[in-house]
Amino acid sequence: MRIGILGAGQLGQMLALAGYPLGNRFSFLDPGGRPSADIGHVLTGSDSEAVAAFSEASDLITYEFEHLDVALVEALEAKMPVFPSNRALKVCQHRGEEKALFSSLSIPTPAYRLVGSAAELEAAVKALGAPVVAKSVTEGYDGKGQAVLRAPDEAFDAWNAIGHQQLVVEAFVEFEREVSIIAVRSRTGELAFYPMAENHHHEGILRYSMAPMPDVSEAVQRQAEAYIRALLDALEYVGVLTLELFQNADGTLLANEMAPRVHNSGHWTQDGAVTSQFENHLRAIQGLPLGSTRALHPTCMINLIGKDVDTEAVLSEPDAHLHRYGKEERAGRKIGHINLTAPDHAELFERLDRVRSNVPDAPAPRFLARP
Ligand code: AMP
Repeated sequence: MRIGILGAGQLGQMLALAGYPLGNRFSFLDPGGRPSADIGHVLTGSDSEAVAAFSEASDLITYEFEHLDVALVEALEAKMPVFPSNRALKVCQHRGEEKALFSSLSIPTPAYRLVGSAAELEAAVKALGAPVVAKSVTEGYDGKGQAVLRAPDEAFDAWNAIGHQQLVVEAFVEFEREVSIIAVRSRTGELAFYPMAENHHHEGILRYSMAPMPDVSEAVQRQAEAYIRALLDALEYVGVLTLELFQNADGTLLANEMAPRVHNSGHWTQDGAVTSQFENHLRAIQGLPLGSTRALHPTCMINLIGKDVDTEAVLSEPDAHLHRYGKEERAGRKIGHINLTAPDHAELFERLDRVRSNVPDAPAPRFLARP
């Protein structure tokens, strides 16, 4: 099966790395023209020639990022199978639609309002009560296009700073931790769920994901599975879907956002689960049986942001696995990650301290379960 991937960054590259052993071959189309994937056949541009060459080289199309032109995806869908569908893509491109879908499926979210002017933003801060988080409805990622407002009189400055026509304004959640759940649904309707991950962000960028979590109850895992299952069913989704959530001190979950693709908080599955999220996404879109999502051992994923590491220093930890993306160093850029495993969580935290000392500018994570 020849698989075409829209987007050509590290997620696409890791999909291909998982697909070669299955006998898949890959083409990429990077409409923006800044590919980093260094595997398969990489095309750039969104003109009809590039799109034709891409579709002719592929039997089946998927994508690795959601900020895609929906018209391009629809044009491809008219010619060949594309998974997930453009419906999932449209919902994930618009925070307002995403929130509406969550609400229609009774998936709890932070209280929110949609606003279209600075005056409406000010009214929303008053109605929800400060602090709030204002986010552009489209195009935001890694905390971009967002502002925290601590009082209604900050509305005009925040509106100008974000510079978008429409914002979603959310009550600021004093969550206990951020978590995510990744699930996969095959063309045959088969479903599988990974154990939830605990995620730590710094300056809006994911730094650490740990899974499985030692201190998450079976009930919370089942609740997260019920929420993501509702989304998979409603969208008749095919492939890997990610749902990011806030967990409150009482264990309840609030949905933050979802991503219609393999996700950074699932990279731990490459070395920590029986089947990685990348392999399962490829199995799902080809209608193959899904692989086990069982965790093999506690795993922590450490993102390399902006600066590279010393290979020998990292690999001197025998259970550390280095995944580089072939990208140049640049402030704030995800250039690779380390997956660190251990037989138990106490040992994992000790190993994490050792490995972290070799990662430039790595903030100290405060995992909830850490003694
Ligand atoms: P997002 O782009 O929506 O994932 O937001 C980026 C980060 O901002 C999240 O990972 C949280 O750390 C934080 N954040 C977003 N929304 C809220 C909220 N309503 N309350 C508190 N923190 C938030």
